[in-house]
Amino acid sequence: MTAAIVTLRGVTKTYPGGVTALRDADVSVAAGEQVAIVGPSGSGKSTLLHIIGTLDRPTTGEVSIAGHDIATLPDRRLASLRATTIGFVFQQFHLTFGVNALDNVADGLLYAGLPRQRRRELARVALDRVGLGHRAAHRPNELSGGERQRVAIARAVAGRPALLLADEPTGNLDSATGAGIMDILADLNAGGTTVLVITHDRELAARLPRRIGLRDGRVIGDDVQ
Ligand code: ADP
Repeated sequence: MTAAIVTLRGVTKTYPGGVTALRDADVSVAAGEQVAIVGPSGSGKSTLLHIIGTLDRPTTGEVSIAGHDIATLPDRRLASLRATTIGFVFQQFHLTFGVNALDNVADGLLYAGLPRQRRRELARVALDRVGLGHRAAHRPNELSGGERQRVAIARAVAGRPALLLADEPTGNLDSATGAGIMDILADLNAGGTTVLVITHDRELAARLPRRIGLRDGRVIGDDVQ
């Protein structure tokens, strides 16, 4: 059996204002899987992704990422686990304007403790992986939406993280461009990266081999093809 890269047991998240965004969630994802997290707006998808991404801690329950119990890791170790193991892609791309694609990707490796030259080499490889090697010198404002998202994906995977988390990566794109982004995520998955993607788009979700359904903070379905 493949080792779990993500294990959540009985995870509840209540925000300071009193909203409970996740209730008693059990989620297990094996290394190498590709999973969609689906549910209506407000169902807890982003909260779940933030907890899996170690950007936030649960109120109660256990979280284990790549064999590490998150509760027992000091913040510094948690930051290092995040930098080496997890890549993030967001709906709004979050690229730095005025900086070309190569340096946008290379800057994502700042916390990996690599020299600049090595960061740029890895950035070039990552841009090639998403089919954008020929756009390395272009700035975000010179790229289409789909190309910007591909740069953001290159930045997320340049350090070869085992786990890629994508929060509505196609949300700002037309459906054909969005399908192209999902193809890239599938390619990365075929190369061994575990991919978790939030999407409210049922058609896109249907193309993934597994879907975890959320509603009102509860896991209501887990459907494997
Ligand atoms: P989704 O991604 O499915 O839209 P979220 O995880 O963003 O759902 O939100 C789940 C619930 O938690 C919502 O009711 C939302 O308003 C609330 N929520 C999300 N983030 C915060 C926060 N930082 N503080 C307070 N409430 C929040």
